[in-house]
Amino acid sequence: MARRRETTRAAIYLRISLDHTGEGLAVERQRADCERIARERGWKIVATYTDNSISASDKAKVRPDYDRMVRDYSNGRFDAVICWDLDRLTRQPRQLEDWIDAATERGLLLVTANGEADLSTDGGRLFARIKASVARAEVERKGARQSAAQRQRAAMGRPPRGVRPTGYTLDGEVISHEAEAVHAIFTAFSKGSSLKAIAAALSGAEQVERDEDDRTLVQRLPHNVPVLPTRSGRPWNPTSVIGILRNPRYAGWSALDGEIVRDSTGAPVQGQWKPLVSDTLWLDVQRRLDDPARKTNRVGTDRKHLGAGLFLCGVCDKPVKTHGGRYRCAGHVMRSRAPIDDLLLSTIRALLARPDLADLLPVQDEHRAGELREAVKKQRDRIARARADYTAELIDGSLYKEIKDGADQEIQRLEAERLMLTAGDASAAVLRAESPVNAFDNADLAETRAVIDTLCTVRLYPAPRGRKSFDPETVEITPRFGTSTARTP
Ligand SMILES: [Zn+2]
Repeated sequence: MARRRETTRAAIYLRISLDHTGEGLAVERQRADCERIARERGWKIVATYTDNSISASDKAKVRPDYDRMVRDYSNGRFDAVICWDLDRLTRQPRQLEDWIDAATERGLLLVTANGEADLSTDGGRLFARIKASVARAEVERKGARQSAAQRQRAAMGRPPRGVRPTGYTLDGEVISHEAEAVHAIFTAFSKGSSLKAIAAALSGAEQVERDEDDRTLVQRLPHNVPVLPTRSGRPWNPTSVIGILRNPRYAGWSALDGEIVRDSTGAPVQGQWKPLVSDTLWLDVQRRLDDPARKTNRVGTDRKHLGAGLFLCGVCDKPVKTHGGRYRCAGHVMRSRAPIDDLLLSTIRALLARPDLADLLPVQDEHRAGELREAVKKQRDRIARARADYTAELIDGSLYKEIKDGADQEIQRLEAERLMLTAGDASAAVLRAESPVNAFDNADLAETRAVIDTLCTVRLYPAPRGRKSFDPETVEITPRFGTSTARTP
């Protein structure tokens, strides 16, 4: 044992693994706890060492104050070290052994403010060694302390640290040209563009499709999706597009590991950043992504041609495929695409020019959507009130559960209705435009297909044998409206 001075001189070591605003509270708490230990033991604090945002587990990372503390100790500046817990001091077993050596051979007093270790005792040293190896294993598994901090940040609606999503800076500020691209990606997908087509547009691929005679058929790629170089420099692909579409942060919701973070009432936590898309658009996109039928969705995905998968075979009623410049249902129908597409486009144009078009359209009710939003909020408030009453012991657990279950059920019903309202709006931009015909002429392929699907069913019949010219009679266009109008009693 080294000689003791009259008053033990103590050093405090503080470390926080995160240095952003707010986490400073944690270091003040560590400091207060350590100072309390010094007071209780009658030690004099001669130095305080603080490392910010530096991991105790990574040998490669420099911890300037830690190194300074080690030097000061070997120069005899203090006889005791107080840290909040051993994890703060070090997570490297070799460094911990150095401190244990100092404690056993040179009489260093090393205590933790949480009371778990006192290296002046055999038990304390054993505990410290076990603790260090456990801590080490924990670090190697995942870095639990950091993810706890991330959870906390997410619960507070603060931007996650480390990675910035396209459209935002690390601090959650909007980067306008990226934000526009993100909005365009959501809009294009909700209108029925495929992931592949969106990725191609973002990567700057050819915008138009031409037929064998180099005639422009249709705009193949979604409009308004700008070319946006990826930060990795690699081309966009469907997976990277999904990564954007799935991110709840774009609807202004806090997220952790891709999941929306919810408060105690079950409501999504609002992030402290500007949303880039509306919550209804975001939810609509999730519904489309989750739709198991998406891959075969007639309007939806990955179509290069106007009628592929949309027009039906007049013989078997299955969707036709494209085969070169033709629509085909094997064994039934084999028709040139161009005259059929022309007929369709002119028929739809004529329909869109009808003055009574608005009366023919399915109801889309913004007002109802607002009512539903309010109703959901009411139910969430109901749960919050019941929880408060339960906490205040005004109601018992079974009543609280009954109220909560009832409200949860109602929320589910309301949300389902809300989703129904936004469903099938892929054609809305055209149908509700001031001039639907102009909008239709300027629509991209996905919108065009959606408009056709909203307005009519198309069946292709086999061309009569030996007949060379196109016979419109072999294409059956059945309007959808009129067949589903309200029945009179
Ligand atoms: Zn067929």
